[in-house]
Amino acid sequence: MNEIETVQVPSGFINFICDQCHHEFEAYPAHRKSTVKFCSTKCYSNYRKRDTRIKQGRLVVQFPGHHRANQSGYVFNYILVAEKALGKPLPSKVAIHHVGSLDDDKLIVICENNAYHLILHARKRIVEAGGNPNTQKICSKCKNVKDRILFNHTTQGDGRSNYCKECERLWKQERREQNGSNRASKI
Ligand SMILES: [Zn+2]
Ligand SMILES: [Zn+2]
Ligand SMILES: [Zn+2]
Repeated sequence: MNEIETVQVPSGFINFICDQCHHEFEAYPAHRKSTVKFCSTKCYSNYRKRDTRIKQGRLVVQFPGHHRANQSGYVFNYILVAEKALGKPLPSKVAIHHVGSLDDDKLIVICENNAYHLILHARKRIVEAGGNPNTQKICSKCKNVKDRILFNHTTQGDGRSNYCKECERLWKQERREQNGSNRASKI
């Protein structure tokens, strides 16, 4: 009676990552959407029992033995989410950005490095200030949102100076005056 079903089962197992122990295990692809989230019933019951709490505003999960767990055996939940998405341990250079609040791990961005993470935060600040991150930036001196063309070119960071042209001009002028008075006082 079950013969046809048996024949139609896809040949071979495919790999899944267990939600609890994060080890790879094999199962039929047909099970993907249903129960296949855990490699064993032991992992499933451990998953149900594990302690989840908020620490430093972030969600942490009890996971002794995890390579990123602290001394009390807790690991940031966003690390587990990112590792599950990547399908491998999180490289140490990688930074995780939270699109919403820090305890919301549903929408995170896995950043290649911290430099990229800082760019995301700079963009977020521009949006929060009502600007357009593609064409504008915030002057770190006068704190105004200005068009990028109002900042001098530089070879560092995002290619434009941190001070707007106006602030940079005033800053250079101040420095010149300061140097002048320093020289004068030495005479
Ligand atoms: Zn497992
Ligand atoms: Zn961030
Ligand atoms: Zn400025």
